[in-house]
Amino acid sequence: MKDFIKYTTTPVLLVFFTLLLWRGMAWNAPQSKEQNDSSRLTITLGENDNMKDKVIKSDEEWRKILTPEEYRIARKKGTEPPFTGKYYDFKGDGVYTCACCGNTLFSSDTKFNSGTGWPSFWAPVSQDNVELDSDNSLFMQRTEVVCSRCGAHLGHVFDDGPAPTHLRYCINSAVLNFVAEKPETEK
Ligand SMILES: [Zn+2]
Repeated sequence: MKDFIKYTTTPVLLVFFTLLLWRGMAWNAPQSKEQNDSSRLTITLGENDNMKDKVIKSDEEWRKILTPEEYRIARKKGTEPPFTGKYYDFKGDGVYTCACCGNTLFSSDTKFNSGTGWPSFWAPVSQDNVELDSDNSLFMQRTEVVCSRCGAHLGHVFDDGPAPTHLRYCINSAVLNFVAEKPETEK
């Protein structure tokens, strides 16, 4: 009788543990896969949320779309020579949009003559439409102004502007497009 129990219990226990091991592996595998998938999904959704309004193009794409001057200034952080741009002495009523992506950046209401030879504004149309970055190039500490939608380099902002902000957004004409306001009769 002892032998009978011994010879039947051992195979049963073996099968039992094999099953346990197999089921354990089978349960663990899909669980960890699901966790990976869901965390990946969350990251993807987060990126999409933040990036939905952004304009992202490769260097090569920008080079095809923009004029050489626009590309050099907007995508390579260049600067146009003073008193040469199309808007430094321009006085039309309207808004200035980004030459790369069309984002509305500045209004003629905040434009002033700074005497520097570059279009100058004391505020952007909205703080959301531009981003500011510290720029330590050329042995100077400056604050770079960038289009918040496409990352185009626009110019720099200085703290010697007129009231009410006392800021001077010094912007390259080449990265701006002027859009005239409609005359009163057409509004
Ligand atoms: Zn832009």
